[in-house]
Amino acid sequence: SRSGFCSPNSTFYSKRTPFPLPSNHSLDITTFISSYPHHGETAFIDATTGHHLSFADLWRAVDSVSTCLSDLGIRKGNVVLIISPNSIFFPIVCLSVMHLGAIITTSNPINTSREIAIQMADSKPVLVFTTSQVVLKLAGSSLPIVLLDDERLTTEATSQVKIVTTINEMMKGTTGQIPVRDRVYQDEAASLLYSSGTTGASKGVISSHRNLISLMQFFPYLTFPGEGEQTHICTVPMFHIYGFGAFAIGKLTTGSKVVILSKFDMNEMLSAIEKYRVTCLPLVPPILLTLVKEADRIRKKYDLSSLQSIVCGGAPLGKDLIDRFLEKFPTVEIRQGYALTESTGFGASMHRAEECGKYGSVGLLSPNLEAKIIDPGTGTALNVNQRGELRIRGPSVMKGYLNNAEATAATVDSEGWLKTGDLCYIDDDGYVYVVDRLKELIKYKGFQVPPAELEALLLSHPQILDAAVIPILDEEVGQYPMAYVVAAYKRIRKVEFVSSIPKSPSGKILRRELMRLAISRI
Ligand code: AMP
Repeated sequence: SRSGFCSPNSTFYSKRTPFPLPSNHSLDITTFISSYPHHGETAFIDATTGHHLSFADLWRAVDSVSTCLSDLGIRKGNVVLIISPNSIFFPIVCLSVMHLGAIITTSNPINTSREIAIQMADSKPVLVFTTSQVVLKLAGSSLPIVLLDDERLTTEATSQVKIVTTINEMMKGTTGQIPVRDRVYQDEAASLLYSSGTTGASKGVISSHRNLISLMQFFPYLTFPGEGEQTHICTVPMFHIYGFGAFAIGKLTTGSKVVILSKFDMNEMLSAIEKYRVTCLPLVPPILLTLVKEADRIRKKYDLSSLQSIVCGGAPLGKDLIDRFLEKFPTVEIRQGYALTESTGFGASMHRAEECGKYGSVGLLSPNLEAKIIDPGTGTALNVNQRGELRIRGPSVMKGYLNNAEATAATVDSEGWLKTGDLCYIDDDGYVYVVDRLKELIKYKGFQVPPAELEALLLSHPQILDAAVIPILDEEVGQYPMAYVVAAYKRIRKVEFVSSIPKSPSGKILRRELMRLAISRI
């Protein structure tokens, strides 16, 4: 049928032409990616420093770094943690680690020491790559650390962490020994990105080499003529599946260029688009909204004429906002995409111009994916145009959650169907629409905020008797978390988040200043 729906078993099949996955059992994602012919010259450009990394330099660097890692004793199955803003080194580290059959895990550099410690206790890394800005969050940890920059640390900082080397040293070359490289099989773990899934706290999502291979194979498949000449800008974090799958490693099979922004900053992004003649811009909806609101100022100040398409994902994007955007930027196409960490970046997407006309939809199911729409009340499989929970099955569905067989079993059933926790429908033409989120996950500016984690944090306060966190819909940020708190009479009734508390030179809180601020907000 047009929708790809097959009624006897109530399954939707992707309308995109399936592609076969490589059949050799022994294959790691890095070898797989490096076997692609590279049409382009430059793989990455650091928007801040202007440094260009060619494909040839990238693969040389991966070779050196993986050999150094092997010399440091990193073996198959070891977990290596990277805590860093986006940088040219991010892909080098990930590819080098996975090449050895070791598992790369990522953490947001703005996470607190406590959050990082929780993730480390769960994933048990044996080595950490991080920057001098972040390194003190690891104070007291005895883990060996590789610095991703050459900043000098203070003597005090050096005494609290164990720095073994820097990435620049690693890239210079090796000890000359023959590296030990275990045989790596496609179904073995390659990456461990954290996601809360449908319920509870953040969990490590184990994606195999094969899961990643299926995603990497998809990129050349979806490319259009001239893709090798495209210039993408990576504004989304590489520690998340969006930046990791689509940019840190994703574009390497297509030969196109990726300009890397260390973190999102509107003006830096706009100047980089102008400077590097960026053609394709990935965004989350709140940023698209800012582009719309400030369109006139932006177009006066920056030349964005190179821009051909915007890829928007991570959270719902309404038709109304798309219309407003197209009014301001009529020559730019909006391609929506939908994915989950648990499906290793697979889900639905749009890639041809005619597909973008399906406003409000997230596109066609990714190739090789099957889908079901399940009535959340009765558990029965539904038909086209009927709303229910989307379940997907295919070669990109994660192996499972680390150390959590129960959550794995609750998320992927015995037949391999992944419960997305999203309320969706699929139309007559096979396009997927995300209507609502059934799961408790809150997405603030595209970032995961598991309510269970905030509730646990609130409950750890001795004055708080009980707490519940819910999402509040908001145009600017998507959803923001709001807490209901049961507390004794000495309770906070209003909270405002600020970047710092005004204090006198001796450290006393300047309450009057805050009171003036509070009055000015009423
Ligand atoms: P993550 O694992 O952080 O990528 O979060 C995955 C979840 O983000 C999905 O299950 C959806 O709830 C939401 N999501 C991702 N992309 C979209 C989209 N295009 N529209 C609506 N929700 C989305």
